[in-house]
Amino acid sequence: MTYNGKGNAQYNLSSQYLKAGGEGEIYDIIGQSGLVAKIYKPGKVNYEKERKLIKMVSSPPDKSVLTQIAWPYDVLYNAGNFVGFVMPKMKINEDLNVIYEYGSTAKYRTMQWENRIIIAQNLCVVLNYIHDSGYVCGDLNPKNISVDPVTGFVVFLDTDSYHIVDLLNVYRCDVGMPEYLPVEIHKKMHGGKNLATAPLPTFSMDTDNFALAVHVFQLLMNGVHPFACAVIPSQSSVPHPQPSDNIEKGEFPFMQNIPGIRIPVFAPKISILPKDLQDLFKRAFIDGHTSPDLRPKPDEWHSALVGLTQELKTCKKFAHHQYYKSLSSCPWCEADKAFEKIMENTSTPARSQINTSGVPPRPSVSAPVRTNWVGAFFGTLGKILLLIGFYLPQILGVLISILGLYFMVTANWDFGDFFMGAVFIAIGIAIYITKWKGLLIGGGLIGLFYMCTS
Ligand SMILES: [Zn+2]
Repeated sequence: MTYNGKGNAQYNLSSQYLKAGGEGEIYDIIGQSGLVAKIYKPGKVNYEKERKLIKMVSSPPDKSVLTQIAWPYDVLYNAGNFVGFVMPKMKINEDLNVIYEYGSTAKYRTMQWENRIIIAQNLCVVLNYIHDSGYVCGDLNPKNISVDPVTGFVVFLDTDSYHIVDLLNVYRCDVGMPEYLPVEIHKKMHGGKNLATAPLPTFSMDTDNFALAVHVFQLLMNGVHPFACAVIPSQSSVPHPQPSDNIEKGEFPFMQNIPGIRIPVFAPKISILPKDLQDLFKRAFIDGHTSPDLRPKPDEWHSALVGLTQELKTCKKFAHHQYYKSLSSCPWCEADKAFEKIMENTSTPARSQINTSGVPPRPSVSAPVRTNWVGAFFGTLGKILLLIGFYLPQILGVLISILGLYFMVTANWDFGDFFMGAVFIAIGIAIYITKWKGLLIGGGLIGLFYMCTS
């Protein structure tokens, strides 16, 4: 089947789909091995989605990061009707949530800590590029992020759900996993609202920064969610809160004492991390609860994580156990021991513990760490233009007032010039105060003034 792109491009899709999902199917494009097409199911297309994708196609993030984001490349039409989009074909490896699994059956139980730190660094790099380009991801759940477990290379998927804002429109992200949404979004969903109906603004760079902090935490802390907790057995009357309950209450059990609650048994204490990373987690989960803009930005996490990779030592027992060199003993051996003890005391058949037979292969380290000056420049330029657009009426108001003042000062006892100057100042002030409305009225008045006086 052949579809039209924007302009004269044509795409011939394979007859069999590669992958099917809830929204549509992914197809190979014949003769263009680097691209795939997503064709939406009939009920899943609308004008808003089309506008959003056109916007994304027309201004992608810096091209050096496009190997790590499945960013839309073209929009697809069938007989003039919007049906889907084209994107680069990505090498899909493992969902990030699989990396988080703990226990003897966990697929990546012997992945080195250093490699987990590198994955965290790479998440920061990609998110930094996306934010530099002025975009917000929104749904940053681990199933939308693919990881190469050997190199630590990450790929962000499902970008058509991203939360896109431009000067005139908000194309909202209407999906998300509660464990990766911060308090401000949970609160907006009270009263039976969901992400499609919650009052705007919903997602922002600050909400992305919350999800990033959760991922960094899970990568560093045995896969444990930062708001996961266990009920202290002697206080079993305490209901067991879910991570999303604790997010909403702002109870971060790794740094705050919560009555009846403790951190999960296989979780290491936060004190296993260097002070700078502890401080970043405090900002992300405690200070950020009331002031979302205090949550660390991707580049702040990145430099702390790079610092950590230079401060590692390896456990004498297990090669994949690496830890911060200031610690006197291996926190991973301790966590495993605590977990084993609990499992011995419970007769659950799921008794599982880390099977550490053999030394894991050392992954090649290839963190694509780059400072994206070009992206930062255009991101900043975009923000400046946005600000200028926002303040344009005030700027014009001030300029017109200055012009009026100039007329008055140079009037040289000419009443007409003096009066015109005063009128200009009044109009300038009106525009400054009432913004666009004043600009229209003021523009009209100036026109009228010239018509009458000429
Ligand atoms: Zn150890």
